Amino acid sequence: MAQQDDNILKKVVSHAKEYGFVFPSSEIYDGLGGVYDYGQNGVELKNNIKEYWWRFMTCLHDNIVGLDAAIFMHPDTWKASGHVDAFNDPMIDNRDSKKRYRADVLVEDAISKMEDKIEKEVEKAAKRFGESFDSTMFIATNPRVQEYQKKINETNERLKNAMGSNDMASMKQLVLDLEIADPVSGTKNWTDVRQFNLMFSTEMGSIAEEANKIYLRPETAQGIFVNFLNVQKTGRMKIPFGIAQIGKAFRNEIIARQFIFRMREFEQMEMQFFVKPGEEMKWYEFWKEKRMKWHLALGLGKENYRFHDHLNLAHYAKAACDIQFNFPMGFKELEGIHSRSDFDLKSHEKLSGKKLQYFDPEDNQNFIPYVVETSVGLDRMFLSVLASAYVEEKLEDGSERVVLRIHPALAPNKVAILPLMKKDGLPEKAEMIMNNLKFNFRCYYEDKDTIGKRYRRMDAIGTPFCVTVDHQTLQDDTVTIRYRDTMKQDRVKIETIKELLENACSINNLLRLI
Ligand code: ATP
Repeated sequence: MAQQDDNILKKVVSHAKEYGFVFPSSEIYDGLGGVYDYGQNGVELKNNIKEYWWRFMTCLHDNIVGLDAAIFMHPDTWKASGHVDAFNDPMIDNRDSKKRYRADVLVEDAISKMEDKIEKEVEKAAKRFGESFDSTMFIATNPRVQEYQKKINETNERLKNAMGSNDMASMKQLVLDLEIADPVSGTKNWTDVRQFNLMFSTEMGSIAEEANKIYLRPETAQGIFVNFLNVQKTGRMKIPFGIAQIGKAFRNEIIARQFIFRMREFEQMEMQFFVKPGEEMKWYEFWKEKRMKWHLALGLGKENYRFHDHLNLAHYAKAACDIQFNFPMGFKELEGIHSRSDFDLKSHEKLSGKKLQYFDPEDNQNFIPYVVETSVGLDRMFLSVLASAYVEEKLEDGSERVVLRIHPALAPNKVAILPLMKKDGLPEKAEMIMNNLKFNFRCYYEDKDTIGKRYRRMDAIGTPFCVTVDHQTLQDDTVTIRYRDTMKQDRVKIETIKELLENACSINNLLRLI
């Protein structure tokens, strides 16, 4: 269950640091805004999420193959894609707090507040009318709800027009008309809105050789587009087919707050699905459903996901929606699903002068495919898993524990091997068990402190199972297995551990749920 509370985010951030999941980048120099490093447990969780995505995309779909394109690309790539001209965010400053914001995000937050008000009205009415309550009818007829809805529609329309026509004066007027106050200073003393390009640039080659300005890719998708024909031809791919890629992307975000939700260096897991023109909406719906199922299989709660249609479409998009997740800061974008038409391939064809067309042997025809894209942020996935997993529990004996209820298939360590004492041959026996398991599972060996303290530490990093080796183990080859979530303990034969771990921790079993 996602827990909606600013304090939860703070707790998750400090827990992530204390237990080796996420550190601020170059912390000894006071960090670097919007950049983070993943520690010993973070990297394992991240790799498991990647594997879950990669295997779903490339193993469970025989028409999807992978790619690992370079971060640097020819600078014309970004001209063709529209990023040089149009990858901007509207920024606005509050003169009193000196804080900078994205004007479109301020407006979207104001819209969310109006949506919340509607939800509250519906909840109130549902309580009042009991079982006979018809929410659709209520939303369609209640005057107060209608008024909020009208304002939401008007605001969305104005936002769409201002962004679409690059009209930053209207954007500012919208902020003023909505009477948006800076959450820090509480004032409405705003500067004008200015467009800001999000791409990082650098130079390639030495100055003497006439340096060229190149960009750090702001999305991984373009590496897929420019390789479309390479993969199609060498892989003998037939449309429809997809290319999947996991990789770093860089955006000079105006504000990089909320921990790893909005970073300047982050990782995307993207898949471009190439289809016959005219079939794109069918595949758009197909991927919306598939991707939602992939998320739901993780068990973080159906109520914590929702689709959100884009009204303000990106320059390339024909239809687009987000899968939003209920983060500790509320519902926010986790994944984007976009119908990108033939915009990208067409633009690359035009600027490069190289044909990027598919020859359809059935119709004996060449065409530029349409593209449906699924794009999920790996770091946002990480945050959704971590924030939902973080639980503070009061135990029966009055003590407290912090436990990360991470799905065992994603947990950094699957099992901790704990010799009760550091003598009498217990460590040797524990090592034997570990040596047998370590080829299949990530194991954690710990022989310091009391067993209670060791259990707590394993709870805090989300290890689903602890195996304790004691004197009885030496006699009858049994161990105590302790379950993270229930804290229940069972006495089991050593030879049964492997199967137990396989059943609980296998990504395959997770994939079978989809
Ligand atoms: P937002 O509206 O939040 O800025 P976006 O719509 O620009 O996101 P896309 O370009 O659709 O994002 O990128 C696809 C995915 O990449 C997003 O759904 C998100 O999970 C992830 N992502 C985008 N920007 C960032 C970022 N700055 N930090 C972390 N993840 C990001």
